[in-house]
Amino acid sequence: MTAQSGRVAALVVAAVAFSAQAPNPNAPSNFVSLQAPVIALTHARVIDGTGAPPRADQTLVIRDGTIADLGAAADVAPPAGATVVDLTGKSVIPGLVMMHEHLYYTTGPGVYGQLGISFSRLYLAGGVTTMRTAGNVNGIMDVSVSRRIAAGEMVGPAIDATAPYVNGPSTFLQMHAITNTDLARRHVDFWADQGATSLKAYMQVSRAVLKAAIDEGHRRGMKTTGHLCSVTFSEAADLGIDDLEHGFLPATDFVRDKQPDVCPGQARGQQALAEVDENGAPFTALVRKLVDKHVALTSTLTVFETFTRGRPMPPGLDVLAPQLRDAFQRAYDRVQQNEESLYTTLFPKAMRMERAFARAGGLLIAGTDPTGAGGVVAGFSDQRQVELLVEAGFTPVEAISIATLNGAKYLGRDARIGSIAKGKQADLVIVAGDPSAAIGDIRRVETVIKNGVGYDPQKLIASVKGQVGIW
Ligand SMILES: [Zn+2]
Repeated sequence: MTAQSGRVAALVVAAVAFSAQAPNPNAPSNFVSLQAPVIALTHARVIDGTGAPPRADQTLVIRDGTIADLGAAADVAPPAGATVVDLTGKSVIPGLVMMHEHLYYTTGPGVYGQLGISFSRLYLAGGVTTMRTAGNVNGIMDVSVSRRIAAGEMVGPAIDATAPYVNGPSTFLQMHAITNTDLARRHVDFWADQGATSLKAYMQVSRAVLKAAIDEGHRRGMKTTGHLCSVTFSEAADLGIDDLEHGFLPATDFVRDKQPDVCPGQARGQQALAEVDENGAPFTALVRKLVDKHVALTSTLTVFETFTRGRPMPPGLDVLAPQLRDAFQRAYDRVQQNEESLYTTLFPKAMRMERAFARAGGLLIAGTDPTGAGGVVAGFSDQRQVELLVEAGFTPVEAISIATLNGAKYLGRDARIGSIAKGKQADLVIVAGDPSAAIGDIRRVETVIKNGVGYDPQKLIASVKGQVGIW
């Protein structure tokens, strides 16, 4: 061995030792498929997220994470030295901005496992570039994951990390019981100081606690949403809530003997909702009130689809740990056998009610809610949610706008994200085919571009396959 080859060998040994100790399995670079100082996407169909008709044969130039130029391929030439990607036959939509996501998942009866790593990869793989966690049973994990992604230490969407639930006394093992307004303000302040950026109230909250949380949240620059029951939608609108979850399905406004601050049970609320005339004065007045008070509404049709008989198996189940896949299969089989289920009438009615809210001028936003008995799998379900909005009567272009620009508007970030325009952040999803004609093409994701860097959805999915539910 010569002195020189000995030195090389030593260097190789050192490098191996370093890499054996240093590789970060969460590093975004493990999943990158497209990265260059200047990228030109040519001959793309652009569905821009505003609801405008698609534009064929466009060129997008991406520089420094921003859409530097956009126009007809005949007018916009790729800059010299750009990495050119020919998108003939493909479409570009904005990165999805999804508003009822979680970094937890149902892993047992009343138990929610923390899936911060696998879910953040799956959300990105599904085309989600910005999300709100809209409910947190993880404590600090939502905030930590959000921070690490923002710092480039982990891969995933930009995350609006919601503080742990604002709830009253309940049977949930992973929720605080906030019993007075002083505790409510302390909860909000503690989590705001930790880095949470939004709040979510839950089914047993009192009006006083909800009001204190909303006001303290606003003082700290945080919006509040709610999955309500003890407080009606109308009461919450009067208290200044910003958003309501799950469309109208948790509304207890139509329960006849509703007691203030008491949840009569979700089933009673839904029974009353099933009997409401959706064209009658009580319902249209509630819609009017929410629109007038600028309360947004989050559609989460995906989770309710898993409760509804005769619906297809949800997408993405093969990434789950086998035990969870089997548990969901058993839940699915039970749903198919339940011929009396209220959801047979309620699921299509919920779709019509959400459409009525949007048609009345309300800000309808989209989410998925990976809870229930399982089966709502991050990323896959976000694409499914857009398909279900189309089934609810929106055009594909409208559905894409609800799942992109509307979320950005709610977050107050629409000047930077949510649609495709010159000067905006390059958060884009490249899909094969044309989702403006066939919304199912939204599942054919080839590359997810976040802040100008393209990620390979197959690599992201492969890295967690069979493990989802464990981490
Ligand atoms: Zn939820």
